[in-house]
Amino acid sequence: MTTLRVPLADRSYDVHIASLTPEEVADRIAAALGKPSGVAVLVDEHVAQVSPRVSPLLAALGARLPRVQSFLVSRGESAKNLAAVERTCEWLAGHGYDRGCSLVGIGGGATTDHTGFVAAIYLRGVAFALCPTTLLADVDASVGGKTGVDIPAGKNLVGAFYQPRVVVADLGFFDTLPGREIAAGMAEVVKAGLIADADLLAKLEAEAGQGLSPVSLAAAIASAVRVKIDVVSQDERESGRRAILNFGHTVGHAIEAASGYELLHGEAVSLGMVAALALGEARGVTKPGLCARTQALLARLSLPIDVRSRLTAEVLDRIEVDKKRRSDAVRFVFVPRPGAAVLVDIPLDDAKKQILAAM
Ligand code: NAD
Repeated sequence: MTTLRVPLADRSYDVHIASLTPEEVADRIAAALGKPSGVAVLVDEHVAQVSPRVSPLLAALGARLPRVQSFLVSRGESAKNLAAVERTCEWLAGHGYDRGCSLVGIGGGATTDHTGFVAAIYLRGVAFALCPTTLLADVDASVGGKTGVDIPAGKNLVGAFYQPRVVVADLGFFDTLPGREIAAGMAEVVKAGLIADADLLAKLEAEAGQGLSPVSLAAAIASAVRVKIDVVSQDERESGRRAILNFGHTVGHAIEAASGYELLHGEAVSLGMVAALALGEARGVTKPGLCARTQALLARLSLPIDVRSRLTAEVLDRIEVDKKRRSDAVRFVFVPRPGAAVLVDIPLDDAKKQILAAM
């Protein structure tokens, strides 16, 4: 098992990554939560239905922690809205959970974002632990303390920075995860290699064609989590360097939204990374050839790479300045060479023209 520490002073915590038994998962969660007055386990309703791991895990938690009860939250992204948050808070209050309680979230990134946000606001903050069940949640969503939900004005516009007490990534959950979701999660692993870990990128290139063995997959996940931890521990609240994690997301988000969320987030990030690399090469920031090399890797991972056909007027219109920052420039993340990232602000109109010209 790989255990990585997220070093954030009194908010530090461990991330455990391995194929684990329910007892091993529960041991780690119980150790991190200490002596809560009660434990509410929030489970993605679909995961509860399809994964044989959920029931034994609930039983193992019940054997170690007081007053363990579970609550099913809506599947995937439908848990990420204020109405769903209110339903969970009502359930917690109705079942007498007080300030000494803890939450445990079991599900993909939507469930971990939902659980973290509820933990941040219920009774002004209670402890929580996460048990991510998708590759994307393992390498990205569950680590770093960004929690939140969507509102009609946009995704993730309401939330809080709030760190969990522990993250236990049991890779056994992948047994029921569709291949398309695995591929989408791999896009974030490739991203981690590109922005901060040239060795990880080289290993993915060496193995991607044959399909990653479970051992290689676990090692790749650990490397990607290490990248996330390094960045987050330097800039917990995204005032600077943390923005490099948005590599591929500027154009990716626009393509994802224009597809009506038909594309998975990781698939859109795959396309967004290709666009950012092509634009970087056109501007002389990115080493020539890196875009083609990355496209070859993404294609072998069954990820989409044809950006040109996706660059509709709607997509270009959806490329926008960061809603969370006041500026008329688009903050692009460029990768000069594998393992390095820089931030460059480009005026919105220039960015749109240059993207079209580069593809
Ligand atoms: P998700 O949570 O929506 O899960 C995708 C689908 O897979 C859902 O239908 C879910 O029910 C199903 N599922 C989950 N685990 C399964 C399993 N083991 N077996 C079978 N089915 C399973 O999607 P995701 O890709 O994990 O996460 C995306 C979300 O994460 C987005 O809302 C995004 O905003 C968020 N996110 C947050 C951060 C952060 O830093 N907080 C970072 C990246 C992404």
